[in-house]
Amino acid sequence: MISLVFATNNAHKLSEARAILGSDYTVQSLSDIGCHEDVDETADTLEGNSLLKARYVADSYHCNCFADDTGLEVEALGGAPGVHTARYATGHNDPVANRRKLLAQLQGNNNRRAQFRTAVTLIIDGKVYQCEGVVKGRIATSEHGEQGFGYDPLFIPEGYDKTFAELVPEVKNSISHRARALQNMINLLEQLQTDKQMR
Ligand code: IMP
Repeated sequence: MISLVFATNNAHKLSEARAILGSDYTVQSLSDIGCHEDVDETADTLEGNSLLKARYVADSYHCNCFADDTGLEVEALGGAPGVHTARYATGHNDPVANRRKLLAQLQGNNNRRAQFRTAVTLIIDGKVYQCEGVVKGRIATSEHGEQGFGYDPLFIPEGYDKTFAELVPEVKNSISHRARALQNMINLLEQLQTDKQMR
């Protein structure tokens, strides 16, 4: 059994990570290890922010851990909102205002191509590893669906004609940026195990 701390207290992310990592891993949250501080996301990339969070937890609590950071990258906006996805409209996390701003920025624009990208930093025995997960899609011209959170009512993943907010959670969670990033992290962990056994 491998024990990892996920640098989050978001219940939704935790249960998603536990489901994907399965019974070979124990995943603890920040509150499980008595960490109640918020790490400021001051880096200018997703990779940088996930590294800040993971490094803080590994250094302060001397544990193996991982952290994630997600951005919505819209082609017609040069990759924005990107690292500013959560605080796009108002400087704090306001999903309704964020969606309204995104629709306004893309008004009349036929190029609706976008992707969600999650960067994950994993720290094992003090060594840093990074991976990512991407789901490509497009931005709808109006909101549809009630499920999910954030930009879900506007994001239509490639191969579907429904937004993330219209898809059942099982479908979204099987193709999402976060799910793909976590799967890539599992591949990394398995590779590390294999390398260890061969030494
Ligand atoms: P975080 O790094 O996971 O906190 O994500 C940053 C921001 O990206 C969130 O505040 C949401 O606005 C947006 N976001 C991340 N994941 C999703 C998703 O699965 N659906 C919709 N929006 C998301």
